[in-house]
Amino acid sequence: MGSFQELKASLSNRNVDLVAVSKTKPIEAIQEIYNQGQRIFGENRVQELTEKHPVLPKDIEWHMIGHLQTNKVKFIAPFVVLIHAVDSIKLLKTIDAQALRFDRKIGVLLQLKVATEESKFGFSYDDLKSQLSDLNLGELHGVEIRGVMGMASFVSDTEQVRSEFRLLKNYFDQLKEAFFPTSDFNIISMGMSGDFEIAIEEGSTMVRIGSLIFGSRG
Ligand SMILES: *Cc1c(COP(=O)(O)O)cnc(C)c1O
Repeated sequence: MGSFQELKASLSNRNVDLVAVSKTKPIEAIQEIYNQGQRIFGENRVQELTEKHPVLPKDIEWHMIGHLQTNKVKFIAPFVVLIHAVDSIKLLKTIDAQALRFDRKIGVLLQLKVATEESKFGFSYDDLKSQLSDLNLGELHGVEIRGVMGMASFVSDTEQVRSEFRLLKNYFDQLKEAFFPTSDFNIISMGMSGDFEIAIEEGSTMVRIGSLIFGSRG
């Protein structure tokens, strides 16, 4: 696992946060990476997250990176630190309400569609802009909107991947200026095992890496 140390070092040199994506991986594998200094772990299923959280060290910062149904927010609201894939205002408001129930503030990222290939989840940029305009952001006290998240197409054409990441960075800049000029809106979550180098070149501040750290999920 020397390669994990190298990955960590190269990311911290570039000021990029690492989410170690531990979905489907056993507790021991997570503990091993934790022992090497990693503190941020990401899961994409509520059930896995709620099973792993209580049996692993308390100082792990758990991120929910996958699609999240509103009726499941309550299960992770007591401990989740950042929810990456907020793709509706309804979900945003649900997270807000659940965070307040537990007297917490939960960080969220707005998921944007940038891939040209058909993607099920995420706001289109125009929809997000108009829905944010209709929303009184000052009324949300349980969530802190920290930035955006997106995924590029799964294609081998690196120029296509690059242009999709560039688009997400553009959207981030415009949203920050229009809606979040003074807040901690400073996270661009983009880049996975196969494309994180390109994502960083295009402005990623947070990469979500699974298979490169833990091995393939089979
Ligand atoms: C699984 C997953 C990742 C990590 O994928 P790898 O290719 O294993 O690095 C990143 N983001 C999301 C949303 C995922 O579901």
